[in-house]
Amino acid sequence: MVIVMKPNASEDSIQHVIHSVQDCGLIAHLSRGKDVTLIGVVGDKHLFMEKNPQLMDGVERVIQVSESYKLANKKFHPDPSIIDVDGVKIGGDHFVILAGPCAVENEPLMYETADVVKKGGAQILRGGAYKPRTSPYSFQGLEEDGLKYLAKAKEKTGLRTISEVTSISAIHAAKGVIDIIQIGARNMQNFELLKAAGRSGIPVLLKRGMAATIDEWLNAAEYIMNEGNPNVILCERGIRTFEPSTRNTLDLSAVCVVKEKSHLPIIVDPSHATGVRSYVAPLAKAAVAAGADGLMIEVHPNPAIALSDGPQSLDPPAFLTLCEELKPLIHLMGRKM
Ligand code: PEP
Ligand code: MN
Repeated sequence: MVIVMKPNASEDSIQHVIHSVQDCGLIAHLSRGKDVTLIGVVGDKHLFMEKNPQLMDGVERVIQVSESYKLANKKFHPDPSIIDVDGVKIGGDHFVILAGPCAVENEPLMYETADVVKKGGAQILRGGAYKPRTSPYSFQGLEEDGLKYLAKAKEKTGLRTISEVTSISAIHAAKGVIDIIQIGARNMQNFELLKAAGRSGIPVLLKRGMAATIDEWLNAAEYIMNEGNPNVILCERGIRTFEPSTRNTLDLSAVCVVKEKSHLPIIVDPSHATGVRSYVAPLAKAAVAAGADGLMIEVHPNPAIALSDGPQSLDPPAFLTLCEELKPLIHLMGRKM
């Protein structure tokens, strides 16, 4: 439930509503927007409704939210959330590019790729240190050493960093070392991992599960936010369909749906969505046009010898060309980078 306060509601009336909510054993989330003040109510509202909140001083109206996610819900927070990643902003009119190799393979690779990523104008360097591979015989990642190389690349270039975490111990290892933790498609409904990511307070990039509905995805975001971490960025990375030409099917309509249902920023990953290098650039442009808040692109200095996801990785010239082509489009969409 969301309680919309009148624009001129006094501080006393706002506090009275909050205390009435709390007296019923419910959680009240206060959200002060530019024009409106909202109070989100989480929990069983039965008792509270008997107090007739719609008649309380300063209350304009009471909205029953049918979706089970509240903190991620736009009804509760009409302004877009802007996530601050060590000074780099994601959401609102900001546009971000996150780029780098699928996996952190070795230290020089990270420095070489970081230079390319920076040259393209991207703000965030990616690289998987813990790799959730389909086969247990595939390269599994450098783990803590991988995080360390990302941190060193940040020192050298100023790029912010992101890496996937696949366990609670990986979250602890990442804290204070990298800027954003990524929860991958395979772990989108690993609820204990989501809760630990929430407790960590580190900004989280939450990828859509490969067979998850948008509703399930936003509920996964709710798990993180409900632990007190509002810094969630969503990432559409394609879903499983009957179509075998691409690794997944990029659901670009998810960008529009999420924009309607949630205030959280949403970025698009055309690399994992397609698995095919030549489809990455056109779909990256389409994502900008659809209103995405950013892109995640896999880049490797030599994709032919990449330890993972070489076929979908751009080489440096292709990445730099794409960045140049994206700039006017980003500008046209009213975004700044
Ligand atoms: C990744 O970004 O490295 C990754 C494994 O992506 P996804 O979880 O979308 O498959
Ligand atoms: Mn990959």
